[in-house]
Amino acid sequence: MSMEYPEPCALCAPSGGTHRLIEKDGVEVSDRCTCARGQMLRRADERRQNPPDPGQFRPTLSTKAATQAARALSQMIPDAPRGVEGVTMLADELMCLCRNVSQAQWLVKRMTRLYSKWPGIREMRIVFCSRFMAADGVDLMEVSAHYPQGIPSDRPSRLVEAPARLALGSVSNDGALNAEVLTAARAKRLASPKRVVNVHAYTEKKEVNG
Ligand SMILES: [Zn+2]
Repeated sequence: MSMEYPEPCALCAPSGGTHRLIEKDGVEVSDRCTCARGQMLRRADERRQNPPDPGQFRPTLSTKAATQAARALSQMIPDAPRGVEGVTMLADELMCLCRNVSQAQWLVKRMTRLYSKWPGIREMRIVFCSRFMAADGVDLMEVSAHYPQGIPSDRPSRLVEAPARLALGSVSNDGALNAEVLTAARAKRLASPKRVVNVHAYTEKKEVNG
């Protein structure tokens, strides 16, 4: 299972990747998207309905690594929790969120770049869950009070997710999703088969350069 949320697609990107607008009985309502990211969010919603037993959770980030990252946050972000108690509290939360050191380092970097003042532990979870699934299974997909349009992505924007092994003319390895998207694309005349092929060529080139 992938532990990372895919980038938003064109449909859910305007919401910061949390949902997309659909028409239901003539009214516009928001719902989870049908893209890979939306499907993962839907599964996270289901997990939230049936939360994991906190007693079952075993952190995989070491206390030492968590404390190091917690100290960095404490020192670099004004108003962040300080002292032994503050650092311990931050380290505990980091162990609930991060599976490994690289995730902890990513989170510290993102937090120091996104906030000039400590935004609270809840906001830190929102930032983490903008990219990764929380280690403890509690994924917060709320709208950030600081970034109502969604937490800015640190990844280059890519409107079409095209894994390397996709068949030509496909937009997803998920057969049902593929059919749905292609039908929608045809109906909206967004993509002819020729354009889909071009999108793949573009994506491959980007990956080689990046
Ligand atoms: Zn989407």
